[in-house]
Amino acid sequence: MNAEIIAVGSEMLTPSRVDTNSLYLTAELNTLGVEVVAKAVVGDDRDRLAEMVRQAAARSPIVILTGGLGPTEDDVTREAVALALDRRLVFQPAILSAIEERFRRLGRKMAEINRRQAFLIEGAEALANDRGTAPGQWVEDAGRYLMLLPGPPGELKPMFERFCQPRLARCVPPRLIRTLQLRIAGMGESDVDQLIAPIYRKYSNPVTTILAKAGDIEVHFRAHAETEPEALALLEAVAAPIEALLGDRIYSRDGAPLETVVGRLLRDRRATLAVAESCTGGLLAERITSVPGASDYFAGGFVTYSRRTKIDLLGVSEALLARHGAVSEPVAQAMASGARFRAGANYALAVTGVAGPSTGGESVPPGTVFLAIADHLSCEVVRRQFPGDRGRVRQFAAQTALDLLRRRLLSAS
Ligand code: ATP
Repeated sequence: MNAEIIAVGSEMLTPSRVDTNSLYLTAELNTLGVEVVAKAVVGDDRDRLAEMVRQAAARSPIVILTGGLGPTEDDVTREAVALALDRRLVFQPAILSAIEERFRRLGRKMAEINRRQAFLIEGAEALANDRGTAPGQWVEDAGRYLMLLPGPPGELKPMFERFCQPRLARCVPPRLIRTLQLRIAGMGESDVDQLIAPIYRKYSNPVTTILAKAGDIEVHFRAHAETEPEALALLEAVAAPIEALLGDRIYSRDGAPLETVVGRLLRDRRATLAVAESCTGGLLAERITSVPGASDYFAGGFVTYSRRTKIDLLGVSEALLARHGAVSEPVAQAMASGARFRAGANYALAVTGVAGPSTGGESVPPGTVFLAIADHLSCEVVRRQFPGDRGRVRQFAAQTALDLLRRRLLSAS
C-alpha cells in the first residue's frame, strides 16, 4: 500500500526549517509495509493545500498531513482537507471543553481563537493530544485514510504511535518491508554500479539504490513481501551474487560504519591502535573515538601539522623531511612507526597529504595523500590521488586509512 506525506507550514519553505516529521513517519510506515511514494511541503495557503490533498488522495490510499492545526488564521489544514473532501467542519463542544480544561490545568485562560481547534471534519475521529492543544484527526473517505497530525514532533510522535499505528496495522494488508545494506570501501560509485547493475537490474523487488560518499559506497536493497522469510529470500537472491562479486571490498552488511567495523576487529584481536595525522587534522581520531567503547583499543592520536611537531612528537628525522618533503612515502612511514612506538600500540596509521586547494609548498599536486600502516612486522605505505575539494580529500583520506587497517587486521587473522 502506498502513502503520501504533506508537511504544512510556510516556515519549511525557508532555508531555516526542514521537515523532519516525514522522516519519522516514513520509517514508521515502512515497518508496516507501507511505501511512501511522494512527499510535499506546502505553505500556509488553504486553496493550494486543498489542491495538494486532492491530488495525493487521488493517487494514494494513505495521506498524512503534519502541521497547520494551531489556532491562528494561518493554520489552514482542517479547512483545506474539508474543502478537498467536500465536507463541512463541525464544531465539537467536547473538544472545546478538553482544550479549556488543558488551559485551566496550566493556570491560563483560553484565548478565543483556540475555538478554531474544536472543529472536526465531518465524519472524522478526533485524536487526543496529551502534549498540546491541537487534536489530530483520522478521516476515512471511500477506502482512503487521511490523518491530520500536529506539527511539533513531540506532539506528532506519541499521537501517531498511540492512534494511527494500530489503526493502520488493521487496515493495511499484511505486507512488510525488509532492507539490507552493503557498505563498500575503496571503489568509486560508477565502478560499483558497472559491476553490480547486471545483477540488480534483473529484480524489481527488491529495489536497489546506490549512495556515494567520499570513499564510501552504500548499496541499499528494499524487499516487499508478505512474510519475513519471503522478504529475506528476496534480499538474499540479489545480495548473494553481488557479495560474491565484491568480496572483501564489502566491509559491512548491517549498516555499521567503517570505524565501528575496525573497532570490532581490533577488540576481537585485543590489539591497540595509534594514529598520526597531518592533513586530516584529527578527523581519523574523531571517527575512531565516535564509537562507544573505543577506549578498549584506541591508544591515542598525534595531530602533527607542522614539520616541527612531526619531529618532536613522532621522532621523524629532520633530514628525512628535508630530503623528501613532509608529503612523501618515507615521512608517512616514519610517522606511523613513530606513533606506534611512542603510543606503545600494536598498530599505527599515518596520514600526510595535500588537502588543497593550494599545494602548501609541497612538490605534489593537491589531493595527493600518503597513508601508512605499521605493525610489529612491517610498515606499508600507499599513495593516493583523491578528487574533490579540501573536505572531500580529507574524508577520502580518513576512509582509506581505516580501510587499510581493516585489510591488515583481516589478513592477520
Ligand atoms: P501548534 O498547535 O503547536 O501550532 P501545529 O499543528 O499548528 O501545532 P505548526 O504551527 O504547523 O503546528 O508547527 C509548530 C512547530 O512544529 C513548528 O514551528 C516547527 O518547529 C514544528 N514543525 C512543524 N512541522 C514540522 C515538520 N514537518 N517537521 C519538523 N518540525 C515541524
